[in-house]
Amino acid sequence: MRTIRRREAIKRACEEIVLDPGSASKTPDRIVLVTGGAGFIGSALCRHLVRGGRTRIINLDKLTYAGSLAALAEVEGSPLYRFVQGDIADTSLVAALLREEQVDAIIHLAAESHVDRSIAAPDIFIETNITGTFRLIEAALAYWRSLEGGARARFRFHHVSTDEVFGDLPFDDSRFSELSSYRPSSPYAASKAAADHLVRAWHHTYGLPVVISNCSNNYGPHQHAEKLIPLTIARAVRQQALPVYGAGNNIRDWLHVDDHARALEAVMRRGTSGESYAIGARAERSNIAVVTAICDLLDVRLPVPGGSPRRNLIRFVEDRPGHDRRYAIDPSRIERELGWRAETGFAEGLAATIDWYLAGAVAPPASGSA
Ligand code: NAD
Repeated sequence: MRTIRRREAIKRACEEIVLDPGSASKTPDRIVLVTGGAGFIGSALCRHLVRGGRTRIINLDKLTYAGSLAALAEVEGSPLYRFVQGDIADTSLVAALLREEQVDAIIHLAAESHVDRSIAAPDIFIETNITGTFRLIEAALAYWRSLEGGARARFRFHHVSTDEVFGDLPFDDSRFSELSSYRPSSPYAASKAAADHLVRAWHHTYGLPVVISNCSNNYGPHQHAEKLIPLTIARAVRQQALPVYGAGNNIRDWLHVDDHARALEAVMRRGTSGESYAIGARAERSNIAVVTAICDLLDVRLPVPGGSPRRNLIRFVEDRPGHDRRYAIDPSRIERELGWRAETGFAEGLAATIDWYLAGAVAPPASGSA
């Protein structure tokens, strides 16, 4: 009874949105449980989906050190959005949310996500990324089995993963695709690989309709200050030393977080059950190229008194153990089959990201290296 009343209230609120000429013009056609929606990518996804007006979101996030509700100010108060603080491993909470909201899809982003932390203290990565995912798919399976007809056919469990599960590429023109074999190097990558295997196994063994996406490195607004780009911006603004691992030659394939959010919606809505999608922008850059680009862009925006270039702040530090040389994604499948394509060029996206941080959001610099 409570569920029916709640759905009617949501329907009414959504009808009001549709009647409001200033808001999105489409009626919501999906109810989605987003896990980790207070994180960097999850919050971009929530903002994107609410702006689109076609999706109602229940954001389940534990609010670890990495979660921030500030990134969700734009969607707070929208009838298309509900925040629930909680753990993905809390099966009874997840089961209650799935039932109460009559969820059509889960987009699972909640994770421990920082490679350096996984090297220093792997336990929580095993707990959240592997056991947490296991508990979540168990709740998803029980719920999916309770559905009938169109609701059962429509349901998707979308597991958001990383290209790091594929391991290390040489410095040549090879790229990861959906067919790449799994060879994770770090505890983080191994925990994400294990989660991918669990999700795939729940599809093959129990028939749970799943899709997996493996994405390259993201950048953009609201990223935690421990990650390469925000860390470098925050330290370079303050003219502090800029630590770079090894010789800075490691290559990553950079994707703007808003492009990733659009890709996640495409995979959730149109992805084929049981399949995976590699997501990237064909934007490979060495770490040293990223750090020097940030220095040069900041020198123009905030010249250092005396004119000393920020590149002089770069310090090469001992390499990260097991540091993969290169990641690169071949996104042909998602481009061809789902009609998605990255829209933000790296130079343009990096400049916009720097401007966003300069507009007032530069957090205190964390320790760590690029
Ligand atoms: P993030 O660290 O910024 O956010 C993770 C979020 O998960 C936080 O809000 C945190 O509070 C929440 N969380 C952690 N444990 C939880 C739990 N037990 N229950 C509920 N919520 C919990 O991560 P991100 O960079 O936004 O990455 C999101 C997902 O995308 C991760 O699964 C990550 O592996 C994947 N991914 C990230 C990148 C990247 O470049 N950042 C690239 C590819 C894939």
